[in-house]
Amino acid sequence: MALSRKGLWRGIIREFAEHLPPVGEDAVTTLLEGNTPLVEAVNLKDVTGRTRLFFKFEGLNPTGSFKDRGMTLAVSKAREEGSRAVICASTGNTSASAAAYASRAGMKAYVLVPEGNVALGKLSQAMIHGAMVLEVRGSFDDALAVVKEVTKNYPVTMVNSLNPYRIEGQKTAAFEVCEYLGYNPTHHFLPVGNAGNITAYWKGYEELRERRVVSESPRMMGFQAEGAAPIVRGEPVLNPKTVATAIKIGNPASWQGALRAKEESGGVIDMVSDEEILDAYRLVASREGIFCEPASAASLAGVIKMRKLSVLKDGDTAVCTLTGHGLKDPDCAIKVSVKPLSVSPDVKEIVRAMGF
Ligand SMILES: *Cc1c(COP(=O)(O)O)cnc(C)c1O
Repeated sequence: MALSRKGLWRGIIREFAEHLPPVGEDAVTTLLEGNTPLVEAVNLKDVTGRTRLFFKFEGLNPTGSFKDRGMTLAVSKAREEGSRAVICASTGNTSASAAAYASRAGMKAYVLVPEGNVALGKLSQAMIHGAMVLEVRGSFDDALAVVKEVTKNYPVTMVNSLNPYRIEGQKTAAFEVCEYLGYNPTHHFLPVGNAGNITAYWKGYEELRERRVVSESPRMMGFQAEGAAPIVRGEPVLNPKTVATAIKIGNPASWQGALRAKEESGGVIDMVSDEEILDAYRLVASREGIFCEPASAASLAGVIKMRKLSVLKDGDTAVCTLTGHGLKDPDCAIKVSVKPLSVSPDVKEIVRAMGF
């Protein structure tokens, strides 16, 4: 093998420089996020029929979620502008990502999370990267309202998806999908929480279409959890409830962005139950070998629902973003799985347990 630096991935800011706001080289803060795999489903024919299905596995980003794509740009720009600190409200993954990128940039991170509602993996990340973690006795929406007020009056940069650089960075996932496929999918499925990601993908796909890189943009298919579905219901949900904590949001910041994506693409914003989410979560893990977090599986639950309703047809090509890694929330995996058997170190007993 010849040693060569050719082809080494340099992170989304450098790889997609032409299509992103410019960042001075000294300010670039990257953990080489992006370049995540697009894995074709091979064992789900009973639920997908002749719809081709691909998973964009964003759980393989440096901190385990797609938030890194937006965070690299948001933190780099904050650094370039001379900011010394970042702040966010988070259901977990934004705080993990902000904490990691801020540590790399030599900046301080303040993260506000709803007390008792953050998966263990995410909380541990924010803590080990040295962020100040503030557990708010309230909801994500309460925490975000405080963050907005604080950034109005104090010298800290907000890195929630209201920060336009987050959206810019996250749109690069759509570029990768089309690059890897070689064409545009017909449908793109996403879980919807604060709705920044669906807004970002739509922007990315439309930019490709405008540059005539692809002939058309896919229909954007966003899925909320039934107990946290303000966009579907048409009004904020005061007390959102779902096992999918990453999308447990009652008043999405990018509400309008989600509606625009839906309307302009001819897509849908719909909802799935916690049961459907957990079924999809187990299905993708047990059949395809991909471990995503519960919220991520809302996208696959959406695919299953849309096949049943014949919205998704034979011949369509669907991409499903799996937004975060399953190891973020091991408690949930253990809760929904078959318990381990306790056995003595005895061949006979173990072979019997194995079913031989
Ligand atoms: C943030 C997040 C979402 C929701 O994304 P929005 O941009 O808020 O709609 C979904 N899944 C995971 C794993 C997340 O971290």
